[in-house]
Amino acid sequence: MTTPLTAEPAAKPVKETKAQKSERLKLEKNPWEALDEIREFARQGHSSVIPDWAEFYFKWWGIYTQGDGAGVTGGSGGHGKSTEFFMLRAGIPNGLATSEQIRAIGKLSRDHGRNLADITTRQAIQLHWLTIESVPTAIETLFSVGLSPKGACGDVVRNVTGCPLAGLHAHELIDASPLAKAIAREVNGNSEFYNLPRKFKITVTGCPLWCSYPEIDDIALTAVRRGDEVGYSVHVGGGLSNQPHIAIKLDAFIHENQAVAVVRAITEIFREQQGLRQSRDRARLKYLFMNEGWTAERFLEVLQGKLPFQLDPGVADPVPQDVFRDHAGVHPQKQPGFYSVGASVLNGRVTGEQLIAVADLADEYAGGEVRTTVTQNFIIPNVPKANLQTVLKRLSEIGFTVEGTNFWRGAVACTGTEFCKLAITETKGFARWLVAEMEARIPGFDQQLTVHVTGCPNSCGQHWIADIGLEGKKLKHEGKLTDAWSFALGGALGQHAGFARVVNYRCVSAQVPDALEYLLRSYLGTRNRDQNLCSW
Ligand code: SF4
Repeated sequence: MTTPLTAEPAAKPVKETKAQKSERLKLEKNPWEALDEIREFARQGHSSVIPDWAEFYFKWWGIYTQGDGAGVTGGSGGHGKSTEFFMLRAGIPNGLATSEQIRAIGKLSRDHGRNLADITTRQAIQLHWLTIESVPTAIETLFSVGLSPKGACGDVVRNVTGCPLAGLHAHELIDASPLAKAIAREVNGNSEFYNLPRKFKITVTGCPLWCSYPEIDDIALTAVRRGDEVGYSVHVGGGLSNQPHIAIKLDAFIHENQAVAVVRAITEIFREQQGLRQSRDRARLKYLFMNEGWTAERFLEVLQGKLPFQLDPGVADPVPQDVFRDHAGVHPQKQPGFYSVGASVLNGRVTGEQLIAVADLADEYAGGEVRTTVTQNFIIPNVPKANLQTVLKRLSEIGFTVEGTNFWRGAVACTGTEFCKLAITETKGFARWLVAEMEARIPGFDQQLTVHVTGCPNSCGQHWIADIGLEGKKLKHEGKLTDAWSFALGGALGQHAGFARVVNYRCVSAQVPDALEYLLRSYLGTRNRDQNLCSW
């Protein structure tokens, strides 16, 4: 690199909004062309990193500045503009990884990331504690095993998700993973789409269980049968954050060979919405429906106008029940004699050494694959019946639970103050403690239950779709500001889709188990066996 590194080379308005600054920086440079500069920062060392670069352009390469482990690992605070440590997220399209890929991530975590990693709610895996000096090594290592952090963050198409049991599940209509990967190749990492108004989430599922949560993605393709043909329904505008919105179904049946073009055209529609670029808080596709008066009919008309073929009218979807969609436990595959083994990973937190051990296990006793889920878990597929007991025993030795309690299995937590600079509260340690408390207080709790913990209104912990959603707040308690939680109850997807309702109750962390115990014991005392919490 010959030119000096500068964060803001062009003249800028005296007073810029956050959205204006983002739009200006994207126009000044395609962040996907910043890899050379990132390598140069690494060569020159930590003091050379320009904070505005780290806070902005790095994201397109899956790199965030991170907090310092506050609340969990003894740090003093997760906020500020520190560029000392970084989080790096590796995309895993459809959650399908080889053991070699999982081993490589595990080694990176062990050798450069303080032996810690998180499986995310988009089937990605993120590393923490990387220094700028170790970032190029991490990126090159991911490249070497066919993975990439490119597009894992930033105003781009994020990791394309899908059913982790694609090709294996007895009830799937079609193995949609080749389509998910084709879509990822088309729009994720494609420079035509480096500058979207904000992040853009896509999922493709061939199974009627809808385990990749198509209801809350910007674009969701869900397999549907029409006569002898399996094609896709298309849903648009789903999303959570502080204003959740269920994706709207368009009246279209998508033939499989049309799907990539349809997704590309919808991504173009999003890219072209200049109105969405006025505010970072309103820059998601859903706001066309929520704020701009768009309807499904209008969207379909605009979409049709972009396509060189005529879309067929849609057919009814097989909308699933709202049950655990996590594939945890042992399940027979459609391949006779083979099983999938789904481990419940509490809050998605693993160590690098655990990832390496799981990769070895998959090689020795299964088919050499490890698949990640949007519920922060992983699955070892293709386990022959003869190896099942060994796999279960070894997973337990490595520290993973296959048959967790409903509290354990239904817990999800976002990053929180430990590493996230937007967080209000610590999340993962709190959720771990809360699960242990509830297991001790109501042993044998027999109702499927989701408790999602999110450290700020952005809802990365997806609290709006949980039976019990906890959103981080601060309350003054015994004279000092303390982590606290507001409660939202009764969220669901599937046939009873609806967002959790915020109830007028907040309390500090220490009081949450009392509140949950009271709530759940009341439910157990009055429930109709057909009722789950969302219909209670
Ligand atoms: Fe961070 Fe908030 Fe997202 Fe949690 S919900 S990861 S605290 S931005």
